[in-house]
Amino acid sequence: MTGSSIKVTFLGTGTSVGVPVLTCECPVCTSEDPRNQRLRAGLLLEWDAAVDGGTSNVGKGQGDATRTVKVLVDTSTDFRQQALRAGLERVDAVLYTHPHADHIFGLDDVRLYNYRQRSAIPLYGNSETMAAIQHTFKYAFVPGAKGVPRLSLHGVSEPFDLFGRTIIPIPVWHDSMRITAYRIGNFAYVTDCSEIPAEAAGQLEGLELLVIDSLRREPHPSHFTLDQALEQIGRLQPARALLTHLSHDFDHASLEEELSDDIGVAYDGLVIEMPMPGDDA
Ligand SMILES: [Zn+2]
Ligand SMILES: [Zn+2]
Ligand SMILES: [Zn+2]
Repeated sequence: MTGSSIKVTFLGTGTSVGVPVLTCECPVCTSEDPRNQRLRAGLLLEWDAAVDGGTSNVGKGQGDATRTVKVLVDTSTDFRQQALRAGLERVDAVLYTHPHADHIFGLDDVRLYNYRQRSAIPLYGNSETMAAIQHTFKYAFVPGAKGVPRLSLHGVSEPFDLFGRTIIPIPVWHDSMRITAYRIGNFAYVTDCSEIPAEAAGQLEGLELLVIDSLRREPHPSHFTLDQALEQIGRLQPARALLTHLSHDFDHASLEEELSDDIGVAYDGLVIEMPMPGDDA
């Protein structure tokens, strides 16, 4: 990886129940195309940063070396399997979009990284998400508790620095839930979304790559349909877009054929390396 790029790995691209759907025998759920096997949605982001020794503390002090930091977006229900598949050997931070089960239920498994890294893992998200995580994983926040994930919670609503990169949290709607899309340089991830308000749309202009929710073809109260996702892509005008959080409505190959060249369908294991011109985007 070059110093000024980020690597995006799709750990999961499926909707909340995953694909194949339990008990379903439809052509997509029984397909042999591995791109039709979708674990619950999440990303791994990697970039090079100045680090402080072998711990997860990253700073710019004396004697720092450069290493690749590993930042998750959400810890899906399938996180353990995704981490094994990606050969993930450390976790430096997690950015949370929202606290629905499919996006947070893998959090307990980050304790293995706590043991190895001997430090707490910082979690970022809006204040509602941080409160929901504290409630759902109550046992991890009991002072002195042993054998639990060690986590530090950081409610964020403004752009912040994370290991030398500016992370921009962008509020969008997931039905009536205010959730967080993230922008880093010219890359943005907008999962589980039913409405992008005007202000957020302004923050999503000029993207090189937009990853956007496209649940299915039929209307849904809390997710974009394919048509709505395409409409948002038309509105935001990224150079390239990828659809994610997909249900078994979509056969990967046939959906790709329906789309124009600058729009693709994400699949589990897809890796994209993006140049990062700077943090002033
Ligand atoms: Zn979801
Ligand atoms: Zn199915
Ligand atoms: Zn959701």
